Amino acid sequence: MMGTAPSDFIMPTYRRSPVEFVRGEGANLFDVAGVSYVDLVGGIAVTSVGHCHPRVVEAIAEQSARLIHTSNLYVTRPQIDLAHRLAELTNGMSSFFTNSGAEAIECALKLARKWGRTTKGPTATKVVCARNSFHGRTFGALSATGQPAKQEPFAPMVPGFVHVEYGDTAALSNAMDDDVCAVLLEPIQGEAGVVEPPADYLPAVRQLCDERRVLLLLDEVQTGLGRVGEWFAHRLFGVSPDVMCLAKALGGGLPIGACLARGDLAGVLQPGDHATTFGGGPVQCAAACAVLDVIAEEGLVERSHKLGLRARERLASELPDEVDVRGAGLLIGIALPEDRAADLALATLEQHVLINDVTPSVLRIAPPLVISEESLDRALDVVMKVVGESL
Ligand SMILES: *Cc1c(COP(=O)(O)O)cnc(C)c1O
Repeated sequence: MMGTAPSDFIMPTYRRSPVEFVRGEGANLFDVAGVSYVDLVGGIAVTSVGHCHPRVVEAIAEQSARLIHTSNLYVTRPQIDLAHRLAELTNGMSSFFTNSGAEAIECALKLARKWGRTTKGPTATKVVCARNSFHGRTFGALSATGQPAKQEPFAPMVPGFVHVEYGDTAALSNAMDDDVCAVLLEPIQGEAGVVEPPADYLPAVRQLCDERRVLLLLDEVQTGLGRVGEWFAHRLFGVSPDVMCLAKALGGGLPIGACLARGDLAGVLQPGDHATTFGGGPVQCAAACAVLDVIAEEGLVERSHKLGLRARERLASELPDEVDVRGAGLLIGIALPEDRAADLALATLEQHVLINDVTPSVLRIAPPLVISEESLDRALDVVMKVVGESL
């Protein structure tokens, strides 16, 4: 492996792998020596349409030659087009565009609190979230994140967040008092290690939210846009959110997120309530439109479902029983009996397969949805060999 040493002038917030990539194509990355790697990380569930998809490259090149930035004081065609495309996919939801997943969560939280205060009363500001959840690193999103270890160094958190066991309907019901304005959940917990709730959980949560007049905010930053073999993970469970956050795959690698709200909630945030200088810029939006086109035209949602099913069947049947294989579509967790994930990710890297050690004991597979069956099979062979040898 070849690359540049980490820089003294970059804050050491990441333990970076010892490899420097210079080019990407489809599901492959190439290092400085030209060596090809199969990418089962996908830029952390970002590059769903593959690295440097020609349609995305062209959209960015064309738009950046025409207009890069205006601010949101003016309308631009790419932003309008993207909002229309997302509305078509979501039965008419309205978008606020951001630069990241965490910012989409911030928007959802502000919308929920303003809605609670104006429709239920000034104390209806509490948000119920799940333990082990992940919603981002800004203060609102971090306060919603159910991981004390990520919060403690930065205490105090924003008040008004309550955490309950994920998948436990009774615990959620108990937490939903009159001061609650919203429930915020991932339909499948990604960073927790690809954790699926029981099949009846989200329908029960939806019903509780309706009965108690509470908004259901779904964080689909990681699970959205085909990753789980449906356009959105909530469709796997037959529920619809009131507010939904997207990001990761949306821009094909450019930074863009979106907070989407049901039609009747679209006017909760009024001029002056919320803003962003860069959010929804024409280049990001043009890239996102191209991404949505590619996902639809290349049948990537269906492909994610099919390849994911096959991959999970292979992994489950060929790995020993003490390894738990789980997930939906091409969002797959391999839960190990011991905290060996980091070592194993390094071992597959040496064999030119990239995999994410998302927790100390879970490896996560989230490749570009365009990955070929042969490429995926070969990479899974490497992963299974490395996991098998570690047991
Ligand atoms: C990655 C992620 C976020 C945060 O997105 P950023 O773009 O890193 O701010 C929020 N929620 C979930 C579920 C994520 O996977």
